[in-house]
Amino acid sequence: MTTSTDTQRLVESHLDGLQLPPSDTDNLNPAQRQVLREEIKALLKAKDAVLVAHYYTDPELQSLAEETGGCVSDSLEMARFGNAHSAQTLVVAGVKFMGETAKILNPEKRVLMPTLEATCSLDLGCPIDDFSAFCDAHPDHTVVVYANTSAAVKARADWVVTSSIAVDVVDHLAGLGEKVLWAPDKYLGAYVQKTTGADMLLWDGACIVHEEFKARGILDLKRQYPDAGVLVHPESPESVVAVADAVGSTSQLIAAAKDLPHQQFIVATDRGIFYKMQQAAPNKTFMAAPTAGTGATCRSCAHCPWMAMNALENLAQVLRSGDQEVFVDEATRVLAMKPLQRMLDFSAELKRSRG
Ligand code: SF4
Repeated sequence: MTTSTDTQRLVESHLDGLQLPPSDTDNLNPAQRQVLREEIKALLKAKDAVLVAHYYTDPELQSLAEETGGCVSDSLEMARFGNAHSAQTLVVAGVKFMGETAKILNPEKRVLMPTLEATCSLDLGCPIDDFSAFCDAHPDHTVVVYANTSAAVKARADWVVTSSIAVDVVDHLAGLGEKVLWAPDKYLGAYVQKTTGADMLLWDGACIVHEEFKARGILDLKRQYPDAGVLVHPESPESVVAVADAVGSTSQLIAAAKDLPHQQFIVATDRGIFYKMQQAAPNKTFMAAPTAGTGATCRSCAHCPWMAMNALENLAQVLRSGDQEVFVDEATRVLAMKPLQRMLDFSAELKRSRG
């Protein structure tokens, strides 16, 4: 089984090998951005393509997706939207596992990403060979993997879940008396375990963005803003979850920002989400939760370095060239489709039963 140290090493070496581009905001003036936006809109139309963007991407890309009939959402909704949309090309602004998920669900469509280099510390920290050995060692467990995994890891699983549905799925399995092997996020796994009381074995992975939020920093900030609510994604450590007014997936946190009575919020998830939170609650104020404190050298600081690799320039470039296409080998795709479809069916049934 991969340890925290192994994961850290894998992530560090991956980040060191990348030439992270400056964001468009640093790079382009407003007139240049506008020219690129118009070009992207025209290319999307000409190529029968639709833009599907994650909440953590640059607001420029989120607004473009909205303006062009695409969608901005969490990974579950991105998967659903891409599946239901008639466009022949899906352009996924996010990280690699999201592009792979789109391809698994839509083998007949072309799936492009602004860059195939954008990955995720959870995916990196759960290599298929180690994970398979972990599963083989516990054959009496139902294998539930988070969406933030490679196609190969999904292919080894019984269920795929996103953070918006993880508690419901594990609760369902626990009700059937099943023991769960969970991967890769240990914090989300611990949260699900605590919430459901399920018998769970946890893989030792973490998100480098959420792992850095600190309960102490949040409480210090709360002293300055005593009326602020605290919104926490459950990929954060337990001590951070413990100080939350609402814990949930990205979509659930956006809904909480709107529904809770607070006028100010401290938000422990990627700050890309502020774009949609501000839309949902235009008169409220959002602050990023502190990460590693004053003088820290954190590499994420409330923003995912891989999500930040999606930019106007590489989006335009991929639409012009058609490169950066996502491929998943057919045998893996067919196997990975089963646990993904199980999640989509479960989610649809849950929606129906809750009206
Ligand atoms: S924010 Fe964390 S979980 Fe999301 S893509 Fe980045 S590293 Fe992965």
